[in-house]
Amino acid sequence: MGNQVPREYNGKTCCICSCRLAPCSSFSDIETRTVKDVNYYVFNSGEYYRRQGLDFTYECRKCFFEKSRGGRKEVERSKIAVRQFQYEREKCSKLVSM
Ligand SMILES: [Zn+2]
Repeated sequence: MGNQVPREYNGKTCCICSCRLAPCSSFSDIETRTVKDVNYYVFNSGEYYRRQGLDFTYECRKCFFEKSRGGRKEVERSKIAVRQFQYEREKCSKLVSM
C-alpha cells in the first residue's frame, strides 16, 4: 500500500498569492532543500515549495524568494517605521510652532 502519485498530482495553489501551481506527477520531481534551517519540499525543479511537516503551505517561486529575502514583512515593517517618524516629526513641528 502507499501513494503511487504525489499529492501535487492535480496541481496546487500558492497560499500567498493564490496563483495556480503546475501539477507534479512524479516523486522524482520532488526534492528537499533547507533554507535558513527550515526544510522544504521543492517541486518541479524549483517551480514551487512547501514547508516540510505543514500541509497546504504551497508557495510559488516568486513568493518563496520574496519571503526568504524578508520581502513583504520587511516592507510592512519599514512602512510602520516611516509612519512613526512622520508622527514624531508632526509632534515636533507643533511644539516648535507653539
Ligand atoms: Zn505566490
